[in-house]
Amino acid sequence: MTRIPYYIDCMSGLSLNAIRDDPLGSLARFPILEREDVRDRLDDLVCEMGRGTIKDHTSGSTNMPVDFYRDKHSVSASLATTQLGLDWAGVERGERRVLLWGTPVDPNERPFLNRVVDSLHDRVVLDTNLLNDERMYKYIEIINARPVVSLEGYPAAFDQLARYARREGLAITPPRVIVTAGFTLFDHMRTQITEDFGAPVFDHYGNREVGRVSGECDRHEGMHVFGETTIVEVVGEDGRPVPDGEIGDIVATHLWSYTMPFTRYRMGDRGEMGTEPCSCGRVYPLLARVHGRSGESFLREDGALVIPDVFLHILGWEFSTPEVRKFQIVQEDVDRIRVRFVPEPGSDGYSPEEREGITASVREQMGSPCEVDFVAEDDIEPAPSGKYVFAASKVAAGTPHW
Ligand SMILES: [Zn+2]
Repeated sequence: MTRIPYYIDCMSGLSLNAIRDDPLGSLARFPILEREDVRDRLDDLVCEMGRGTIKDHTSGSTNMPVDFYRDKHSVSASLATTQLGLDWAGVERGERRVLLWGTPVDPNERPFLNRVVDSLHDRVVLDTNLLNDERMYKYIEIINARPVVSLEGYPAAFDQLARYARREGLAITPPRVIVTAGFTLFDHMRTQITEDFGAPVFDHYGNREVGRVSGECDRHEGMHVFGETTIVEVVGEDGRPVPDGEIGDIVATHLWSYTMPFTRYRMGDRGEMGTEPCSCGRVYPLLARVHGRSGESFLREDGALVIPDVFLHILGWEFSTPEVRKFQIVQEDVDRIRVRFVPEPGSDGYSPEEREGITASVREQMGSPCEVDFVAEDDIEPAPSGKYVFAASKVAAGTPHW
């Protein structure tokens, strides 16, 4: 790290012996790496590019995509942790996997090498950026063609697919397991997905920059942190770890990113470490819960923050209706919420009762004076990152503007 300008300052006074004697204590002396740092100081965060270094960018749900670098070590580590998580879900290497991901690349146009690897692993990647009826019909055909062992994707993708199948009277052959990642999985979503797809759900957590950092075993008592590749801390506002069981910001240190280290990288989610070990006996630390994104929180008039996932719950689950094809909730101002939606052809979308119910639920979260309006759209465009954003705030969340 002495060769990485960003770290030269904070490394001074930190000897290798000190790191050896107290690795976690030494780690706590490093600054929290923010997404903005990666965006603004990319060149300062990189040492020489070895062979196999590739430039990548986040396709996260935020509106601020960032570039970063991966090297062959970090790529190998990511593949290994994904496989470890699958092992814990009872999925053997080479067993058939179908992935519902928001991949910016058309599956048929994936690079040749990726397609070779896909077929070796019996894996197919289906793009969820544009989940229209035609695609969903095709995806269900692909899933049903041969037994799927592991069906993986965003919770919302499963919801959309299940709703489409119900609407069209199509059956989806149950996979052996469902693996969710990419968005917070709430308990009711787990219940619904299990019911819709007839398979147990294993939740994984991570992001594009550091790969998967944790995954569930078959006891489902929390997510085990993949300790061989990642250190996960839950920190308070002062950047110091909070006691186990307390909620804070999740920061992750990836141990195999050499070209561009991710050290104490703020993941943008709130979470808490477990206070009890998992009953399975694995010694990996437990990330007990992930509470959802902190970065894109909605700001209430009283200064409190509301995580956007609660709106996904309200619109995507509580008031989910076959009359609405897509929705998005936008905070226009501290006291103004707009619900954009794409109705099914020939439909008005949400009924008056549903609108009332949604308004009441949104007000419950945002405070009573909050205005809620509904706007029917022809389509809802994806964010610059290419990913469909369910909830967006135009108010600078976390920084009260008075
Ligand atoms: Zn366990």
